[in-house]
Amino acid sequence: MQALAVIPGEKYSAHLREMPTPEISDDEVLVRSVRAGVCGTDREIHEGLYGTAPFGKEYLILGHESCGIVEKMGKNVVGLSIGQHVVRTVRRPCPRCENCNHGSNDMCSTGKFTESGIKELDGCMAEYFKDKSHYLIPIPAELGEVSVLLEPLSVVEKALRQAYKLQQRLVWNPRTALVIGAGPIGLLQAMLLVEQGWDVSVLARSPPGNSKSKIVADIGATYLSASASSSSLEQRISTLGNIDFIVEASGDSQRAFDAMRWAGNNGVVCLTSITPGKKELSISGDAINLNAVLGNKVFFGTVNAHRTDYYQGVQSLRRFMERWPGVLPRMLNHKIPLMHYEQALQPSSHDIKVTIEIS
Ligand SMILES: [Zn+2]
Ligand SMILES: [Zn+2]
Repeated sequence: MQALAVIPGEKYSAHLREMPTPEISDDEVLVRSVRAGVCGTDREIHEGLYGTAPFGKEYLILGHESCGIVEKMGKNVVGLSIGQHVVRTVRRPCPRCENCNHGSNDMCSTGKFTESGIKELDGCMAEYFKDKSHYLIPIPAELGEVSVLLEPLSVVEKALRQAYKLQQRLVWNPRTALVIGAGPIGLLQAMLLVEQGWDVSVLARSPPGNSKSKIVADIGATYLSASASSSSLEQRISTLGNIDFIVEASGDSQRAFDAMRWAGNNGVVCLTSITPGKKELSISGDAINLNAVLGNKVFFGTVNAHRTDYYQGVQSLRRFMERWPGVLPRMLNHKIPLMHYEQALQPSSHDIKVTIEIS
């Protein structure tokens, strides 16, 4: 079979390699990859900034946003069937922490977890991959097409679940949310919030009139463009009133500190951007600190997702498809065959979610 691999740590090392189709044990499932989503993490691994090969190997098969079909199952596998669509969860537990022991691999406290397509475990950008059924989420056939969005959606499901959990510290009847960034994470977060009755604004770099702003409008959220002058942006933000929840997903660390300033009383700021650069900022430290204290604000970072967030995400995908037919397929606006993988690994501001079509 063909697989898209990188030599971790080596710049622009992505290459196709011919390798044997994985053999499965009695407890494993062989999955035929249909497509894989590409995100900033894949591009950073390709740039040599990130990623670790499995133990004893020099290469890593890329791909953590999966979508596949069960091809073959070991005889002990239950709960799946041949021909069933599945999405693979990303993170595997470390051998020793309490969180991993309890199935919360996403909250690993040792950092010794593995992640498919990222850290010490091969990913899904190959014609086939294998896994234990526990790590495969069954997908109804009618969602097969858009299920490649389940992995990023699981991240935003987790973000919102944690915000509610943190706010059990008070009576919280939130209404107003600001999502910063209109990539897949930002758009999916906005959809989830609108669907649950929030007033949602999405702040993004580009002037309106692009495919992202159209999706924001179609789901009933408000698009704010950061291309306006910074004083008029601050003014727009202030008209939103007390902002209860801000999700930062722009990839710009400056926005994380803006979010801390913009959050209202009892507000929560959730940080999701991976920023591997070394940018230094000058921030209004005293004002941010003072308002955080006087406003009882919470700032938290989040990564990855629990298995329950994936299951929740499947339900959300179904509701999004019913409420906004066509919007999720429009997010998959750049489909690239595996052989043209180089194109998929180039950043482009027009794409929402680039996918590599595998079979
Ligand atoms: Zn990703
Ligand atoms: Zn752990």
